[in-house]
Amino acid sequence: MAQQDDNLLKKVIAHAKEYGFVFPSSEIYDGLSAVYDYGQNGAELKNNIKAYWWSFMTQLHDNIVGIDSAIFMHPTIWKASGHVDAFNDPMIDNKDSKKRYRADVLVEDAISKMEDKIEKEVEKAAKRFGESFNRETFVSTNARVLEYQKKIDETNVRLKEAMGNNDMAAFKQLVDDLEITDPISGTKNWTEIRQFNLMFSTEMGSVAEDANKIYLRPETAQGIFVNFLNVQKTGRMKIPFGIAQIGKAFRNEIVARQFIFRMREFEQMEMQFFVKPGEEMKWYEIWKEKRMRWHQALGLGADNYRFHDHLNLAHYANAACDIQFNFPMGFKELEGIHSRTDFDLKSHEKFSGKKLQYFDPEDNQNYIPYVVETSVGLDRMFLSILSNSYKEEKLEDGSERVVLALPPALAPHKVAILPLMKRDGLPEKAEAIMNELKFDFRCYYEEKDAIGKRYRRMDAVGTPYCVTIDHDTLKDDTVTIRYRDTMKQDRVNLTELKSILEKGCSMKELLKKI
Ligand code: ATP
Repeated sequence: MAQQDDNLLKKVIAHAKEYGFVFPSSEIYDGLSAVYDYGQNGAELKNNIKAYWWSFMTQLHDNIVGIDSAIFMHPTIWKASGHVDAFNDPMIDNKDSKKRYRADVLVEDAISKMEDKIEKEVEKAAKRFGESFNRETFVSTNARVLEYQKKIDETNVRLKEAMGNNDMAAFKQLVDDLEITDPISGTKNWTEIRQFNLMFSTEMGSVAEDANKIYLRPETAQGIFVNFLNVQKTGRMKIPFGIAQIGKAFRNEIVARQFIFRMREFEQMEMQFFVKPGEEMKWYEIWKEKRMRWHQALGLGADNYRFHDHLNLAHYANAACDIQFNFPMGFKELEGIHSRTDFDLKSHEKFSGKKLQYFDPEDNQNYIPYVVETSVGLDRMFLSILSNSYKEEKLEDGSERVVLALPPALAPHKVAILPLMKRDGLPEKAEAIMNELKFDFRCYYEEKDAIGKRYRRMDAVGTPYCVTIDHDTLKDDTVTIRYRDTMKQDRVNLTELKSILEKGCSMKELLKKI
């Protein structure tokens, strides 16, 4: 069940700042709304998440290749994609709190609340009936559940109609009928709903009169579509095949309040998979399952993920769902998986006047491929991992520690090299060990403060292993290895270190779990 934990989010934000993961942008100038910078540890964690995604998508799939297209693109691309006309969000303001919301998000939150109510009924009944409980029978017969479900269905239909017909008055009526209140002021004192375009624009060209209005891309996908034939031809790709890309995207988001969950400048990891028309639903299911396995291999708990089917499909999709994660704010979208049909390529054919077709040697025919897209926010991945890993633990001796139980392969540093003392040749020995390990693992060297204090600092940034060098190391080449999660310590020979680290925190071992 989705649990709101505002306190946890606050703690994660404070921790992220204190330990060099995420800083508010332009902080010395009082910040810039919904823009963040990644610090020394954050950049490492982010790069590791990217590597995990990139390796899985490209290295482990020999029919997927990666590209890196420019952020600036020809302005007509955004007409063809529908973003100039349709990338509008319906916004509504609460007159008391003066806060602005996306009206569709408010309605979806209201639907989520109704879904939660159904879950509560199911849980209660499951307890009451015990072994003999059958969920399907219960939800299809229980009067209260049926009533909630009916309201959910009706709301979805009305939302879809209002969005589809661009009918803002009907939309407002829906907000009123659902008696949605502002989470801050608690009132229903809303303005009318207005459309707002999310794309940032700027001008290209040196002289103002000749300048062309261009946009900062709001998604990376279009850079893939316009390069479809370039890649297919030069890579001699055969359908089905995919093109992957990691890159920045920009949206002038209206609701930007949840830390790095929703930012104005963010990064996406997207893959467009080109398939034969008619086969898209098969691939849609395959990619749903593959992407879920990729997430779950991180070990953050299978219960923290769920699929959420879209009933209100975007203009380009014939099927779509989200993989939601149990964030501190509750279950929210982490990744989108969309069957985009041939909408994009067809539209680029029309607007560019260039053929974007594939010649299928097996069928001896030309066609515009259909596309299944997987699109995950890198920053949302970061938040899901960071918030899930943050733990405050009470230890047996009564003391407390804060530990980031990050998936070891993603941790900013894999191992801390800690000479017990700053003399007697221990730092020199430690350095020699680090020089051996640093080609395979990101190491962190630290000789200041008592060892216990140093362990705590490493716990707080999620370093999975600490290796302590003491006087015995000089005699017999053994070191103490301390494990972050159990705090257990072992005495091991230097020759064993590499294989312990390899097994425990290499990307290779993580990829093998998928
Ligand atoms: P939402 O409904 O939360 O606004 P969306 O459905 O508009 O998201 P998509 O256009 O499907 O998102 O983008 C794909 C992914 O990009 C999302 O699943 C999310 O992880 C990420 N993403 C989208 N907008 C933002 C943002 N403003 N900040 C950070 N990540 C984002």
